[in-house]
Amino acid sequence: MTAAALVLTWIFQRTMRHMYEFGPASCLPVVAPDPAPDAAAVESYVESQITALVPGALTALTGWNRHIDIQLTDPDLTVRMTIENGAIRRTRPGTQATDLPRLTISTSGATFRDIFLLGRCNPRQAYLAGNIRMDASPRDMIHLNQLFNEFRRRSGHLPMTSVHERTAAKVTAERLPETIVISDTTLRDGEQMPGAVFTIAEKVEIARRLAAIGIPLVEAGFPAAGAQELDAVRAIVEQCLDTVVQVIARPIERDIDLAVQTGAQSIALFAGTSDSHVQAKLRIEPGRLIRQIGDAVGYAKESGRQVVFTAEDATRSDHGFLAEVCAAAEQAGADALGLADTVGVATPWTMHALVRRITAACSTPIAVHCHNDLGMATANSIAALLAGASGVQCSVLGIGERAGNAPLEQVALALEAAFGHPSGLHLPGLAPLARHVASLLGIEIAPCTPVVGDHAFVHESGLHVDAILRDPSTYEPYPPGLVGCERRIAVGKHSGRSAVRHALRVRGFTLSDGELAALVRQIKRDGEKGNSDAGKHSESDGTL
Ligand code: MN
Repeated sequence: MTAAALVLTWIFQRTMRHMYEFGPASCLPVVAPDPAPDAAAVESYVESQITALVPGALTALTGWNRHIDIQLTDPDLTVRMTIENGAIRRTRPGTQATDLPRLTISTSGATFRDIFLLGRCNPRQAYLAGNIRMDASPRDMIHLNQLFNEFRRRSGHLPMTSVHERTAAKVTAERLPETIVISDTTLRDGEQMPGAVFTIAEKVEIARRLAAIGIPLVEAGFPAAGAQELDAVRAIVEQCLDTVVQVIARPIERDIDLAVQTGAQSIALFAGTSDSHVQAKLRIEPGRLIRQIGDAVGYAKESGRQVVFTAEDATRSDHGFLAEVCAAAEQAGADALGLADTVGVATPWTMHALVRRITAACSTPIAVHCHNDLGMATANSIAALLAGASGVQCSVLGIGERAGNAPLEQVALALEAAFGHPSGLHLPGLAPLARHVASLLGIEIAPCTPVVGDHAFVHESGLHVDAILRDPSTYEPYPPGLVGCERRIAVGKHSGRSAVRHALRVRGFTLSDGELAALVRQIKRDGEKGNSDAGKHSESDGTL
């Protein structure tokens, strides 16, 4: 009896060790690698997946037309397919008549096998670990994710929660994902700013401008909030902009039906997961909430849309419960997950820990939605990306509920200037967009606002200007030209001779040293009069 128990324990432990310590689920090299899949197995898998796709399952991909090449090594094989008007077909070399944009995905046969054929590898972590390479734009990433989720779901390979939870700790993602999806909620959370109202025409114009600077996903509204909201989203969808239009909905059929009616490609279902939201706002038993979310995700998926589940107040939720809710949403077919710091109380450290916890429990891409109540929305967004999230949601100038959201301009420049990481956005378009939104709202942009404030590239202090005239990097975080701006030198109380000499030179004047010293003294005297008109600084209109 004892011997039998010991043998059973030994077998169990060996199995568990194999699964969790040496298993390929983490996409790390395995101790005894399985043989590579043969080309015929890969071909027939892709063939059967495409054949099995229900018409309409990819409705959200209508308008996104691409040739997709999956290049494998070992076996040396390229699987070609074409997606056009929401329908996908295999393409053979030489038969691609249309000149659609081409996307190339490169990976090994073993990674392909583990993700698709065996379902024992988490594609997100394979991507973060660099085992899958793609030359895809952020918008391409959103659609590819939905397409491949369909494939995996059809094979019954989603979400493998239990395996991931044990193995994810070994896969660290302390670097930014190659492609980051920066979505925008100016039209939804932004319009929830007290006093903010955009007309339908204004919303269409904002969406157009967001798409023009390269925002891959625009959260356009909450259709259940009213008929005008629904019409506005529909008007945006009709523009066929180069961006994914997303709407939000509660996990109830009525909201989802309205969301589908707008024609938006993506539906973000949201529900609070913190104790206060579950008990005080939703007044629902936790188990029932999980079932309701699962049902709603399944119902929304029937529309062929990309479906996201966003946990409201995620940062104040019990991590275990949140992981359970997210896993249920994935199980029901969610293509991606959203974690909201609804009241803006996260710190970079707590956000990092939360994202790590959820990436360990789930396999689909994660995006965060950070509020700025404590001034940390940008930092928290970046912390989430370093922890394994691949998307951040922002708004122009950070407009939104209370203290607002993560400002788009700041997140983009934090990525570009602090990390040297491409944001995928046309940076010189940020300031004109910010000024456009501010003028619609009738608000002033505070002078010290990062990136787009009037003072972002203005220097007055004598010591600074003297150094900047020799080497601009001494007192600038990045060249103003990066965002389409110019450096300006202000002349005022803090000015020194260099600044004044420069200001005169760009206007064609030269003074002797004595005259210059006298002028600087006079400027300082005037400047010391305070913030009266006489004391206000004037700016050199020359560029350096
Ligand atoms: Mn919000």
